[in-house]
Amino acid sequence: MARAKHPQQYYDQIKDKFREERNLRLGYRPPGTDQFTSEFSGDLAKYAVDPYAKDVPSREPISDEVEVLFIGGGFSALLTSARLRERGIESVRIVERGSDVGGTWYWNRYPGAACDVVSYDYLPLLDELDYVPVNHYSRGPEIFSHCQAIAHKYNLYDLAVFNTTVTETRWDESDQLWHVKTDRGDVMRAQFVICANGTLAKPKLSAIAGMESFAGHSFHTSRWDYDYTGQNLEHLKDKVVGIIGTGASAVQIVPELAKVAKEVFVFQRTPSSIDVRDDWPTDPNWARKLEPGWQNKRRSKVLAAVENSLEKRAAKGASSPEEKLKKQENANIDYMMRIHKRIDEIVDDPATADALKPWYMFMCKRPCFHNEYLPSFNLPNVHLVDTHGQGITKINPKGPVFEGKEYGLDLLIYATGFEVQQTGIYNDIVGVDAVNLQDKYADGIRTLLGIHTAGFPNLFIMGGYQASFQFNLTEMLQTQGDHIAACIDYVFANGYHTLDVSDAAEEWWVQEVIGHRGKTGRSEECTPGYYNFEGNEQRRQDGNYNGGFRQYFEHQGLVREKMQENFHLASRKT
Ligand code: NDP
Repeated sequence: MARAKHPQQYYDQIKDKFREERNLRLGYRPPGTDQFTSEFSGDLAKYAVDPYAKDVPSREPISDEVEVLFIGGGFSALLTSARLRERGIESVRIVERGSDVGGTWYWNRYPGAACDVVSYDYLPLLDELDYVPVNHYSRGPEIFSHCQAIAHKYNLYDLAVFNTTVTETRWDESDQLWHVKTDRGDVMRAQFVICANGTLAKPKLSAIAGMESFAGHSFHTSRWDYDYTGQNLEHLKDKVVGIIGTGASAVQIVPELAKVAKEVFVFQRTPSSIDVRDDWPTDPNWARKLEPGWQNKRRSKVLAAVENSLEKRAAKGASSPEEKLKKQENANIDYMMRIHKRIDEIVDDPATADALKPWYMFMCKRPCFHNEYLPSFNLPNVHLVDTHGQGITKINPKGPVFEGKEYGLDLLIYATGFEVQQTGIYNDIVGVDAVNLQDKYADGIRTLLGIHTAGFPNLFIMGGYQASFQFNLTEMLQTQGDHIAACIDYVFANGYHTLDVSDAAEEWWVQEVIGHRGKTGRSEECTPGYYNFEGNEQRRQDGNYNGGFRQYFEHQGLVREKMQENFHLASRKT
């Protein structure tokens, strides 16, 4: 972000407009997550069906015992199992709702799916797999294949159980094991359980009046129906397609629809910020010269660069906290106005260009990067239906209705996002003395590092609240996986059976999280979205640890230096 270069009045006026747009949106929608539904039953049950799991084989219920059981088979499980294998731990099982590993990249197979984090940083274990990604940014299929390659390399398919949803994870004091029940009638026992079910795993739909009555075809972006669209969307040539939502998924999908479909209607409530995507094929000469350990070195450099970001530099030299904040805000506004300028340069129709402009601070919503999204709106078959913050509130048998106009569609795609889960989806987690984790969290989330929670021995949580935020999620997950593998190794190496965080260590971390929250009012001032709990007030401990990713990583190491102080470690009771 460039140094602020306008009189303060200019920035203040833009901030007023941000506030106006935020309040407009809050006024329209039901509060918080009430506006969404992710309980798909009855007429909505079809939105949960896995279109990629063909001919699921029947099998006998499993009743056995493993050392480590992962709930979920995405990157959290893959990264951590790799580390467990490296430490010689053999008995590792993944239980996964989908029919393969991959998590997000299993489910999100929509056309155009790609990752916005540079591939050499995002794709984990590149050194270990001796793999260099094909492009600067990876497409979905390459990432999905990489997940499968990790599972093959570390023999994770051997004990894996697919097409299976964990419904209950209960600590059993009599054998001091977790008893894991599933929707396939299994009762598996495990010494360690790792909740690796992802942060944005459960699709949600905007709860729109009349949605069940829609007579055309419809699905959620994470359940793409290629039987309907054709592998290359060729069946859409004579179809009118609508898409509700303009977040990161829709931004990647719209250009693909635009190339093929007869007509495309994009129903927008809040525009995303769209910046340039600098992509290129990997230079084979560069790839050939990479030395062992290159990815770790690279990640450290990227992290140092982020921590010394332009926003922080803009704040340097400020004399008071207020001045520092103002400088940061002004630099942020300059960036967003550059995003606006780019829209004016690309989009031909001025009214459409104006409607595509995001009026909020950078990072209030997940920023997007795409070179074809904005130009799509210059095509004659693509129509932006801007709902001015209101959103689609009515659907009839023909399609969405807005301001009295009915949009007749053959296909309606819900790009309405995912439930932001805390810990355990579809799954009741019950610890010592039959305490349910959700009940324990009723007065606020309580963990150490977002990973351990007292009264739930040998249970680890990945990607949950009270962990650090990191745009490159796999890097954050890798640190958690390394930490968890080291903890399990410590238990085995020292002849213990259980590890449970002490109340004091847990309380210390809760206070750390609270202490680093809300240094600015930015989140509360943001336009609603899942980053700020849809604009709802939130308890200060029910979010990420905001002390910085490097500090989070250092805290993990410090916690492990004092295992005896931070944890109750015990042998198996006989
Ligand atoms: P999001 O939650 O980001 O977006 C949902 C969209 O639906 C928003 O634009 C929302 O508007 C809109 N919406 C909800 N209800 C209505 C309605 N009634 N009428 C009109 N619009 C409505 O979901 P996504 O699936 O796009 O992305 C989820 C996350 O997944 C991303 O934030 C990102 O973390 C990840 N992702 C990453 C990708 C990448 O690396 N490139 C690609 C795709 C996803 P409003 O903003 O007003 O609420």
